[in-house]
Amino acid sequence: MSKLSDRINNLAESQTLAMAKKSRELQAQGKDVISLSIGEPDFNTPDFIKEAAKKAIDNNVTRYTPVAGILELRKAISEKFKRDNNLNYSFDQVIVSTGAKQSIANVILSMVNPGEEVIVPIPYWVSYIETIKLAEGIPVTIPTSIESNFKITPDQLKKSITPKTKMIVFSTPCNPSGSVYNKEELKALAEVIIQYPDLYVISDEIYEYINFGEKHESLAQFDFVYDRIITVNGVSKGYAMTGWRIGYIGAPKWIADACEKMQGQFTSGAASISQMAALEAVKANPSVTFEMRDAFKKRRDLVLNLMKEIPGLKTNIPGGAFYIFPDITYYFGKSYNNYHIKNSSDLSMFILEEGNVALVSGDAFGDDNCIRFSYATSEDILREAVKRMKETLAKLN
Ligand code: PMP
Ligand code: GLU
Repeated sequence: MSKLSDRINNLAESQTLAMAKKSRELQAQGKDVISLSIGEPDFNTPDFIKEAAKKAIDNNVTRYTPVAGILELRKAISEKFKRDNNLNYSFDQVIVSTGAKQSIANVILSMVNPGEEVIVPIPYWVSYIETIKLAEGIPVTIPTSIESNFKITPDQLKKSITPKTKMIVFSTPCNPSGSVYNKEELKALAEVIIQYPDLYVISDEIYEYINFGEKHESLAQFDFVYDRIITVNGVSKGYAMTGWRIGYIGAPKWIADACEKMQGQFTSGAASISQMAALEAVKANPSVTFEMRDAFKKRRDLVLNLMKEIPGLKTNIPGGAFYIFPDITYYFGKSYNNYHIKNSSDLSMFILEEGNVALVSGDAFGDDNCIRFSYATSEDILREAVKRMKETLAKLN
């Protein structure tokens, strides 16, 4: 008999975090590894946010907060939803959690029963599938391809809905493809969703501020589906606050209440000091994030241009987030010494071991034809990384 639960034995490790851990280990052994594995801005948290945290400590905001979050923060998030997304979530429809990751886990664990299906378009963020499995739900994926810019169509969505479907989980801008759904595309999906009265959607909008095109659009903006949508967001990406661990949802009150109950048993709520820091972030004019967004766009263009020089890589033009998800099937079937490339995992291992660049294989995101390259680092490092990739891939034949 296993000493560990079946639950943990069946849970896959987060591949993004696993690759980041492996890079750190190799770096500690003195290897000159460039890690483009974890999706995390390289910028520092803006000073005015750090000041708020220091003040919170000095003012002894160091005790348990209400489980759902400090009231002032919930009110500020409610205003942010109105200001940026034209969404009406009153403060009691907002739950603050320890990162958007926990927000998503709260919702899935609160809503999905064993045997219920959850639709997840490919490519998906690594943690969706495993969290659905923890809830004993059944992930049902929808394939996409580079030709459709990794987006699903209303028809595909409709075809994957069954009487057992409980929920859909997706991100826009998308991790890992960078694809952004525009207003018309979201409306077309909403028109399918509304036909199924028991269907709910987690709309993960954590990359809202890292969007290089038109204004960010939220699925919940369409009144006719508003009460079926759980909007997830947070401060990790847009404000370079990954380590502070603050995410949140806006949702129908009965779902928010369920998440509060869940969180009351798991964490008692997010860290008080981080909440005070997040309050300043959320209250500020979003223009404080624009400089970082513009830097990401410049890096995206740089990497896309450099990648053109690598034979066989096919890329889309990501509209947001900070990832490029090239199709690497050109290299399947090629070899070098003991390396025989059969899939994305073989290729990412080859690039790591032979080229000292850590990427994440596409199979972690459900698409084995691709590999994820995070460009959330300096232009010099990006130039060096693509150069190493090019030289390493050139060895394969
Ligand atoms: N959703 C997506 C799509 C992500 O890429 C991330 C990145 N970590 C998260 C949710 C979770 O973010 P966090 O827990 O840092 O707020
Ligand atoms: N979301 C980031 C990524 O995809 C951070 C790691 C994680 O939370 O899994 O790399």
